[in-house]
Amino acid sequence: MSDFEIAVIGGGPAGMISALALARAGRRVALVAPSPNVSDHRTTALMDHSIALLARLGLWQSIKPEAAPLKTMRIIDGTGRLVRAPTVSFRSAEIDLEAFGYNIPNRVLVGKLTDAVAAEPNITHLETTADAVTVDKNTVSITTAGGDPMTADLVVGADGRRSNVRESAGIGVKTWSYKQSAVVLNFSHALPHDDISTEFHTRGGPFTQVPLPDKNRSSLVWVMDTPAAEAMVARPEVDIAAAIEERMQSLLGAVTVEGPVQKWPLSSMVASRFGKGRAVLVGEAAHAFPPIGAQGLNLSLRDIMRLARMLDGIDGSKVSARAGDRYDVLRKSDVWSRTASVDLLNRSLLADFIPAQLARSAGLFMLSSVPPLRQFAMREGVQPLRGVRALFTS
Ligand SMILES: Cc1cc2nc3c(=O)[nH]c(=O)nc-3n(C[C@H](O)[C@H](O)[C@H](O)COP(=O)(O)OP(=O)(O)OC[C@H]3O[C@@H](n4cnc5c(N)ncnc54)[C@H](O)[C@@H]3O)c2cc1C
Repeated sequence: MSDFEIAVIGGGPAGMISALALARAGRRVALVAPSPNVSDHRTTALMDHSIALLARLGLWQSIKPEAAPLKTMRIIDGTGRLVRAPTVSFRSAEIDLEAFGYNIPNRVLVGKLTDAVAAEPNITHLETTADAVTVDKNTVSITTAGGDPMTADLVVGADGRRSNVRESAGIGVKTWSYKQSAVVLNFSHALPHDDISTEFHTRGGPFTQVPLPDKNRSSLVWVMDTPAAEAMVARPEVDIAAAIEERMQSLLGAVTVEGPVQKWPLSSMVASRFGKGRAVLVGEAAHAFPPIGAQGLNLSLRDIMRLARMLDGIDGSKVSARAGDRYDVLRKSDVWSRTASVDLLNRSLLADFIPAQLARSAGLFMLSSVPPLRQFAMREGVQPLRGVRALFTS
């Protein structure tokens, strides 16, 4: 029977970063996780505060050359509705940042994390799944698919949407779906992107182009009704390229799709609590929502930062039986407010209700014409409460 201070279950980005952050703080960590998915062609936009975490973990220097800076974020109303919002551009230089964040191919992120986990002496990586997790007052007992029993003072559930840890800890979830799917692909284009990400708000959902490291390549997340997404992914690549160029009003010139073209059904999920007793939840085990506004993994990294800070506060001593309850209190407002804002944005885009369109247009009009408000929104977008703090220090 092996005994660890912390067992992290799940080896997606949230699990590997949790294991690294806790191991670097001096904890003896077991990472129970099968080999990561290397066929993920998505990219992840990480904001400035997430990049700072990767830098603190010594990962950023090697990832940066393969990531694209996001210096300008532009929102264009492509709804064609009666009430249309003005185009709004947010520039990172306005809030003294080199970039709001960086867009990183998932393959690169997962590859670098895998190497770092393998090189970390405080992590024992068991390349298997956790079949049984029992959380009780004195300890957590885990049995892997290979039959290895182990115990830990704390279990970190980073095992995704269908989290076994969450279920074992008796934590419920609320889920809802949107009847939409995201068409996800990478494409090359004739004109350079100039480090600008453009989001078109369309009737079916947002269409978001995000720069890739090569100046003439971008990634795309295009949200639309599920039947339309099914029809789109079935089309020949040249037709999809033509649809992208038309949707972008040829802003980047002629487009060539670089397969594969993937479809992701959109749904949201939030756990009823984020920790309990000797169990805590991070990443999609705790919260998942549509890929709007690059929120998912950024929120997960804040879970991890908060957890690491909380455990630091108990100064290397044994993790208490109430650690999960304390963590739950610390994470509630951030997770709930992000979940609500993504949901509200998605619903306001879909609404045919004129007052909802007016509210969204008025909001974007204020952002385009009132610089202090725009700067506040930019800081809050990069990191919650950063805008509030700037109000008191400027
Ligand atoms: C199209 C799309 C675009 C996105 N773009 C962005 C973006 O730009 N910015 C952003 O911040 N977020 C983005 N996201 C969200 C982000 O991708 C997710 O938040 C993130 O991948 C979730 O990581 P995770 O580690 O929590 O979960 P997962 O990646 O799902 O990892 C869970 C892991 O747990 C493992 N597992 C499950 N059960 C067990 C078990 N019993 N034992 C051991 N292991 C187990 C699984 O094998 C898996 O490897 C996007 C999402 C989508 C769908």
